[in-house]
Amino acid sequence: MSHIRIDKRNTTRRGFVREVAAGAAGVAVAGALRAALAPANEGLIAAPGPMIQAPVPGELKYRKYFTTELKPEELEIGYGAMKNMFMVFCDGDIIEGCQFFSAMLMGESATKVAGHGPHKHRDPEVLVALGTDPDHPHELGAEYIIYMGPEMEKHVVNKPSLVFIPGNFIHCPFTVTKVTRPFIFIEAQYAQKDIETSFRDLVPADMRNKYIFIDSDGSSQKGKTMPKAKMPPSAK
Ligand SMILES: [Zn+2]
Repeated sequence: MSHIRIDKRNTTRRGFVREVAAGAAGVAVAGALRAALAPANEGLIAAPGPMIQAPVPGELKYRKYFTTELKPEELEIGYGAMKNMFMVFCDGDIIEGCQFFSAMLMGESATKVAGHGPHKHRDPEVLVALGTDPDHPHELGAEYIIYMGPEMEKHVVNKPSLVFIPGNFIHCPFTVTKVTRPFIFIEAQYAQKDIETSFRDLVPADMRNKYIFIDSDGSSQKGKTMPKAKMPPSAK
């Protein structure tokens, strides 16, 4: 089995990478990883800095592209209001032009709920699961089950994974069955809003009130409250 080993000794550049990787979000910092894998003379420190134009305080032109710089009323729209569940969330209502994107940290508590019931979206989606142990980046530290197609083909996943879901393709239930270490779960749609149709009839009647089912026509949620849906708890 091939294995990429990142040497963490000595140089400032690598010291930077170590510091980033040590943080909880370290595994998600692709730029830092690229820097670590680049030849030694092309690291971040060696790169020339941009021409800096001092911004006028309080008038940052591009703050609209940062979820951290949006005002609560700009960020807390739709799922953006569910800050106890999503570590980051964005869609076209929150940042104009941005696709639907969510990332959450799933802990042991995720195994206590049935999960998302069968559904399809108008647009394709990708589901990404990442482990959080920098010393064992190829381990997920968790297991989930996802059913695919109207046939309900069962797949068990226990490694870092990307699952591609074509548009108008029935998928789920999605259920987290085991968590030995909290893991990062990302859902990204190829659309600015989630357009979703649920299929309650594909699960036994006694499970229909246990799974999450969402029906969303993709219309703007600006100025509206969240549609009622029982969502899984965030990592604890
Ligand atoms: Zn889906």
